[in-house]
Amino acid sequence: MSQQVENLVIIGSGPAGYTAAIYAGRAQLSPLVFEGFHAWGIPGGQLMTTTEVENYPGFPEGIQGPELVDRLRSQALRWQARLVSEDVVAVDFTARPFVVRSGEREVAAQAVIVCTGARARRLHMPGEERLWQKGISVCATCDGPLPLFRGGVLAVVGGGDSACEEAIFLTRYASRVHLLVRSDQMRASKIMQQRVLAHPKIEIHWHSLPIGAHGKDHLENLTVADCRTGETRKLKVSGLFYAIGHVPNTTLFIGQLDLDEAGYIRTRNPSLATSTEGVWAAGDVQDPLYRQAITAAGSGCAAAIEVERWLSAQH
Ligand code: FAD
Repeated sequence: MSQQVENLVIIGSGPAGYTAAIYAGRAQLSPLVFEGFHAWGIPGGQLMTTTEVENYPGFPEGIQGPELVDRLRSQALRWQARLVSEDVVAVDFTARPFVVRSGEREVAAQAVIVCTGARARRLHMPGEERLWQKGISVCATCDGPLPLFRGGVLAVVGGGDSACEEAIFLTRYASRVHLLVRSDQMRASKIMQQRVLAHPKIEIHWHSLPIGAHGKDHLENLTVADCRTGETRKLKVSGLFYAIGHVPNTTLFIGQLDLDEAGYIRTRNPSLATSTEGVWAAGDVQDPLYRQAITAAGSGCAAAIEVERWLSAQH
């Protein structure tokens, strides 16, 4: 192991990780950031997979997801954050200094901020990859208001509260919303079910699952299967939103940090401190509720401020 003990190691390079790095850098903590390439083969997190981001404050004309990430990254570098594009493969939080290991190095750290994000579940059906972000999305709040979806007929896949919320939200922009539910019942709370059932713009399709996405330059229709009979039909839609859950990237922390039933890191709300003193979590990895770039960045900022105060109190 290297002899040096880092003040702060940040794991993850989305808006949460880079914002934490900017704040920690300006506080002269010289943070070491494991950017990771984990889920997408490149650093930068979920925003690398999207096009236009219209709701990040400070960009009235909107900004492309990868450009926003690039700006966050440059700002972290400006404040002397040290970035390494390596995945963390193991951590030991049982004693301080903590140990963080990638394929290339093992470092000791006084404090760690976990910003490893989450992934939206997708069906990976034929046509999905080609039409990704060309009518297929995983975030109604993010993409629903885009011109691509305005006035169109849209579909939402899922039967939980999120699916109902997304369907209702999308009725503001869509002429009609088809809610595709795999079985003959929904997991959503009674109140949410009642709202979608009563909504004049929402049509529920029971026992229904999309199995193919079609369109030339953008989504034009879906092949939908009846889950009981296997029979298929075409459904003309210009947008499809997956609302079938998210998977937080926390496998690494099982047995090391307190996680909730869905795998999200539990923090001591309103603090971002985890169950282990000296370890914080920020961004989507601890947020099943909002899952936005700005909330991720905000919690990265808050976590870095908490670390700075905690480290000062140690000396
Ligand atoms: P992420 O962005 O998920 O980043 C996590 C980082 O951790 C990644 O860099 C990953 O490689 C890294 N990592 C994971 N495991 C490891 C490991 N073991 N070692 C090292 N690194 C690791 N939000 C908006 O506000 N507006 C939008 O318009 C918008 N559009 C979106 C469009 C799409 C298609 C998607 C998927 C999301 C969109 N979002 C949008 C949501 C937004 O991208 C997320 O809320 C935000 O990126 C979360 O930031 P984060 O830093 O918590 O995590």
